[in-house]
Amino acid sequence: MESESLGLSLIYYILNKHFVILRRDFSTDRGLKFYVFTEKKDIHKKFRDLYKDLAMEGFIPVLSRENHELIIKVYRKKKKKKKRTKLSLLLFFVTLLTTFYAGFFVSQRNSEVLSKLGVNVNPWMDGLLYMVSIMSVIGLHELGHTLACKAHNIKASLPMFIPGPPWFGTFGALISLEDPPVEKDQLFDLGISGPIVSFILSAVITYFGSTLSYLIPKETAQALMQQGKLSILMEPYLFDLIFNLALPIPPGKIAIIHPVALAGWIGMLITALNLLPIPPLDGGHIKHAVFGEKYKTLFTALSLILSFFISILMLLLLIFLLFQPYLGCLNNLSKPSNKRKAVSFLVPVMLILCFVPLTPI
Ligand SMILES: [Zn+2]
Repeated sequence: MESESLGLSLIYYILNKHFVILRRDFSTDRGLKFYVFTEKKDIHKKFRDLYKDLAMEGFIPVLSRENHELIIKVYRKKKKKKKRTKLSLLLFFVTLLTTFYAGFFVSQRNSEVLSKLGVNVNPWMDGLLYMVSIMSVIGLHELGHTLACKAHNIKASLPMFIPGPPWFGTFGALISLEDPPVEKDQLFDLGISGPIVSFILSAVITYFGSTLSYLIPKETAQALMQQGKLSILMEPYLFDLIFNLALPIPPGKIAIIHPVALAGWIGMLITALNLLPIPPLDGGHIKHAVFGEKYKTLFTALSLILSFFISILMLLLLIFLLFQPYLGCLNNLSKPSNKRKAVSFLVPVMLILCFVPLTPI
């Protein structure tokens, strides 16, 4: 009890250093809610200073406006999560194995078809190439986020890779943040940094993977499809564009894609999924940074519809995410820079180029 009132006096003391406290709202039990005042021009700088002071004492403030009144809510910081370096490394190595196996598996499946046409493939080499390609897309996507966090002094965990069965070999990777970003610029950078990297890298990998792919006669392919030895892969628009550039398909032929091209395809799928404008996906951070709570229903509906066309599993995951609390950033009155607003136009472009409907209708 004593330490609680000590904490309360400390919060009052620190808050009072930066803002004029008008009154405290006792009606809420989650966090402490204060109505405060300061000159409009000073708000952002004062809030940054308040954040620094409170964070040192184990609290975090959240700034917003309600009916033209400034509100600061103060929460106790979440307990520091244990650094799970060993688990991170273990998952990384397991995912190396599962992605290698996924590439090996796809190559071996290709080999059953291609060997009859006198083409030899090396599943060991293909497995290795697939592993390197897909781990680069996912790893560098996460590195993009990590660098954005570093640039803004946000502490982030090591990426946790999620191993998966063939023919993906992985379900991607996640990083977690110790504290939410303070301002919308930071939130925007955090969101955009991963997808931009995976978008570019997926395009490059698709190009190289396409040059390694094989062309077989259409009739042979159709016969193999009927036997269930070949299946048609739906393609994102960008994949189709790059593939045709790297390996133009003459009439009467069909391409069997190399595992490296498959890694590019998966990279595009991951980029599209991450860009759906629903928190806490990357697209959700970007949407929150640019639009705040505006058009929330519209963006949510759009995400749910798009995710339905990608996969029912994705739709279920998104519905689950809808019920999770999302803080966005701490200073809800901050605005993203014009440069960032301009860059945000890339988001729908990347999403459309990488979008691939997989749900059978
Ligand atoms: Zn991401």
